[in-house]
Amino acid sequence: MSNGAGSQFSERNKTREGDNDDVTSTACRSLVDQRGRIARKLRISVTDRCNFSCLFCMPSRNSISWIPNEQLLTFEEIARITQILSSLGIEKVRITGGEPLLREGLETLIGLLSKIKGIRSIDMTTNGWFLSSSKARALRKAGVRSMTMSLHSLKRDRFKKISGMDGLQRIIDSIEAAREAGIYPIKINTVAIKGYNDDEIIDIVNFAKERGLSLRFIEFMPLDGQNIWNPEMVVSGKQIFDIISKHYKLNPKKRSHGDTATTYELTESANEIGYGKAADIGLITPISNPFCADCDRIRLTADGKLLLCLFDSSYYDLKPFLRSGIDKTGQNCSYPRDCSGLEKPSALKIVQYESDKDKRLADYITSCVLMKPPGIEYMTPLSLEKMREKRPRAMYGIGG
Ligand code: SAM
Ligand code: SF4
Repeated sequence: MSNGAGSQFSERNKTREGDNDDVTSTACRSLVDQRGRIARKLRISVTDRCNFSCLFCMPSRNSISWIPNEQLLTFEEIARITQILSSLGIEKVRITGGEPLLREGLETLIGLLSKIKGIRSIDMTTNGWFLSSSKARALRKAGVRSMTMSLHSLKRDRFKKISGMDGLQRIIDSIEAAREAGIYPIKINTVAIKGYNDDEIIDIVNFAKERGLSLRFIEFMPLDGQNIWNPEMVVSGKQIFDIISKHYKLNPKKRSHGDTATTYELTESANEIGYGKAADIGLITPISNPFCADCDRIRLTADGKLLLCLFDSSYYDLKPFLRSGIDKTGQNCSYPRDCSGLEKPSALKIVQYESDKDKRLADYITSCVLMKPPGIEYMTPLSLEKMREKRPRAMYGIGG
């Protein structure tokens, strides 16, 4: 599936070799999979609902069935799971959705999460529509450190065509609101799609550079709700790199363990156009140059299911461990496929739990993580196609 990355672009593979340095920096090795990958980052989806209908994410409106409210995890349940995960080594949390700001009082959840010992950062990904100045301040005060905002076009009509909302100016205002609230860094996510916005790559780079924003271009993944994805629509990281290189010199930055992006500093422009300094530019290349080998992320869906890989079709339900009346003992919860006979991770951390239920949940999660699939890097075009057929959820229901 590789698109043949160029020499500078493939710099990420070089930095990967030394990446394990920070893996050994903490003693915890509980959330380890069979490939020795250790989960340290958690993406929490707080809702699958969204006011946008991005063409690379949502199915058509009349075919959506949202998760019923009573099935959503409460903030307390999310905090409890995060507390347990933190005791197993999770250090960083990203709140996402659907559109996370559709969940009222989100700052209450942020407040609960920021009290959890061991959680070093709480970030958020949002489409920005509901990010007023007061909301941005409340989130910052509650503990949101950085924010990623999605912006796929700088042309008003095109923005509307891609997202289903006439929201370009509103999102630009939200970026300012986040900045004024002291949220830093602010990142822009752009999904590059051939024939839709690939002619705007340099405009978006300049937009970010002008405002000192970080920028991530993401390759279109086959996780859309309308099944429009095909390989021809993917603008590869290499292609984006080549486009930007015509205008700017891209200086590779050192890759940290588990980073999803290959990042570059924009140095002197080859073709100076007089803007200020951008924070950095990143290329997220799950299709042409995936980052599965040291993936350190797991996901919690809005209805309490653990997902170990974006491209997995197995979801592990944690809710039965949380809700009394469903299963007080956890005994009726099915464990994932039998892992007897598999190599167990060594050096398990000894953790004290407040209750037997928490201990059972921790054991269950640990056994699930062992089942983390290798990832898209190890999929053939045929197995990827099969995944698309079996895939239970599109991006909005997973939490990107
Ligand atoms: N609603 C919020 C937003 O759009 O920022 C958060 C949730 S959204 C699912 C998280 C990120 O996933 C967004 O940056 C979005 O652009 C990206 N995304 C959605 N569908 C995608 C796809 N099929 N391929 C690549 N990225 C995708
Ligand atoms: Fe909504 Fe985000 Fe999906 Fe767009 S990408 S439809 S904003 S969840």
